[in-house]
Parts: sequence; structure tokens; C-alpha cells
Amino acid sequence: MSNRRRAGSPVADQVAAAIGESRLIFGLEAERVGRVAPLGAAADAWVLGIYEDVNRAAAAGLVDYCQHAANPRPLHVGAWNRRLVVCSACVGLLRLYGEEDRRCDRCAAVVETIMTTTGWAENVLFVHIGLCWDCTVELGVPVSRAVVA
Ligand SMILES: [Zn+2]
Ligand SMILES: [Zn+2]
Repeated sequence: MSNRRRAGSPVADQVAAAIGESRLIFGLEAERVGRVAPLGAAADAWVLGIYEDVNRAAAAGLVDYCQHAANPRPLHVGAWNRRLVVCSACVGLLRLYGEEDRRCDRCAAVVETIMTTTGWAENVLFVHIGLCWDCTVELGVPVSRAVVA
């Protein structure tokens, strides 16, 4: 076994690379949805709650991951399913269809038009969100920052 020391830790390097990639993706996402700022205090607190929920479930071994999620990289979760975490390439696995795709992630109402946006936590976890109009307004998500799906 070698005692050779490397400059910097490989794990820290990978995390730094993941954060860099997240920033890149986040920039692209922000451009796509016209969002350049955080969602706002109420929405950010709600997103953080989801993040904490995912973390608790992960610590309890209740979260499934895509096969690529083992190494540090940007990850995605849907507010509608906090037990599945995937990489950017596998984000399609989070997709919902039919009525479930129009169910508000906050109040569970099924609505005609769902507003979608993306929050992020800890630089590397994107939280994809679908909200009804009332929850969009109640959480103070600027309508210009949400897109109609
Ligand atoms: Zn993957
Ligand atoms: Zn709602």
C-alpha cells in the first residue's frame, strides 16, 4: 500500500466537479424557465423541507437511486416521489403521466394546469416541483419563474 499523499482529496475534487456541473445545469435551467433568482423565502423553505425529507429517507435506506448516482454528481428528485433520486441523464425516470402529472405536489389537488419549476438544495440536488395555481401564489413563486406544463 502506498503512503503517497495526493494533493487534495479525490472525493472533494469530485464534489467540487459535481457542484460546478450543477451550476452549469442550473444556469441552463434558469435560462429555460426565465429564473435567475431563488424561488423566494416561503418556496425555498418548502423545498428545503423536501430536501430534508429525502435525506432522512436516504439515511433510513428507503431511497432508490439510478445506477449512476453512486459518485458525486448533480442529482434530481421529484417533489412527488421523494424515494427516487436520479442523475441528470436519468431524469426521465421521474416523469409522471396522465392525472398524476397534474397533481399539485403541495396540496395534492388534480388541476387542469400545473405550474412547474425547479428548486435546488445544497448545490447538488435539484428538486422538481409541480404546483397548482393557488399553491404557486401561496408560496410566492413568481409566475414568471414557473412554467406551464
Ligand atoms: Zn443515472
Ligand atoms: Zn396546490
